[in-house]
Amino acid sequence: MNGYYLSQENVKDFISHLMKKKTVYAPHAKADHSFVFEEVVDADNVILDYVRTLNSIKKYFMPSREVMLRYNLDDNSYSIEDVEPVKGIFLGVHSYDMQAVLRLDHSFSHGNPEKNYLTRRLDNIFIGTSFTPDNFHFSSSVNIQPHKTEGFDLFMHKTDRGYVLEEVTKTGSDLMKGFDQLTKFHGEYPNSEHFKSHLYAPQEKLSKVFEESYDNPVWHEIAQKCVGCGTCNLACPTCYCFDVEDHVDLSLQSGSRERRLDSCMLRGFTEVAGGEVFRDRLADRIRHRVYRKFKYISDSAGEPWCVGCGRCTIYCTAGISIVDIVNRLVSDYDKKQIVQDSDMIAAWD
Ligand code: SF4
Ligand code: SF4
Repeated sequence: MNGYYLSQENVKDFISHLMKKKTVYAPHAKADHSFVFEEVVDADNVILDYVRTLNSIKKYFMPSREVMLRYNLDDNSYSIEDVEPVKGIFLGVHSYDMQAVLRLDHSFSHGNPEKNYLTRRLDNIFIGTSFTPDNFHFSSSVNIQPHKTEGFDLFMHKTDRGYVLEEVTKTGSDLMKGFDQLTKFHGEYPNSEHFKSHLYAPQEKLSKVFEESYDNPVWHEIAQKCVGCGTCNLACPTCYCFDVEDHVDLSLQSGSRERRLDSCMLRGFTEVAGGEVFRDRLADRIRHRVYRKFKYISDSAGEPWCVGCGRCTIYCTAGISIVDIVNRLVSDYDKKQIVQDSDMIAAWD
């Protein structure tokens, strides 16, 4: 595939060129230090050099609230709400958020394929941009480098004076047709960035670590600080658990069935008919969330379900770091292994 150089002064023209093809969604500034993905109305407002967005692009494929169907008891009828493909160009997506979409694709297409999500995912185009890791990104620890192009159609590698555009798919290549402010690039694509935050073990080892960590005291220690607000779930680009509720109107004759994002950190999430709560203790809910990211799904899918975006740590009301939790488990596991090894050596002597 070919590469092209896009100078910084031509970036806005390139965005305007994309806007003529499809609706473009890209990062915009929100208040002083935050960023959100929004539909682009004016190319001047797009910010491609950003740290991370508050929410990931998951919100376009899985809205936090949606009506699934409407029903009427007068004639016992119901109608399923229509869902349309988003059909947009997602510009300036970081590799960890792209990887999160690929994980959601897996979650929603295995078992019982989920129609609404999969319909919205049709006909979307993704243009990535590389990022400079801050103190909270740790995606390289889960094999997601800032220049990883998997899932993208076109990738914009940031350089000092603009971007190197890497064609990843034919769709990405077609996006550049008709835009004549590009020059051919003949070098190596940039491919490394320095991370300040790391997990101490790769997924293969984490799977073993988690086998031994179910009764680790860390779950109770973290529960002393955690306030059970659920922000970590809502901020996470790979969390997708939802609740379904019926809303009946005052006449009790018609209503709607609504799906809304839920959080496994909230007590009510595990409350079932009869009032039983099967993860009543906060420590159990914290453990469940972290096991969902590094063990339960990962063992069958073969990769972590955490993409290392750092959102759950930054936005945690209590300052709890998922990196610190995982590294504590690794460290306790290693200490246990050393004790077991020395016991074995002593038995041989
Ligand atoms: S668990 Fe935390 S760091 Fe991992 S993907 Fe979710 S929000 Fe990002
Ligand atoms: S965001 Fe922090 S305090 Fe809130 S539930 Fe998650 S870990 Fe607990």
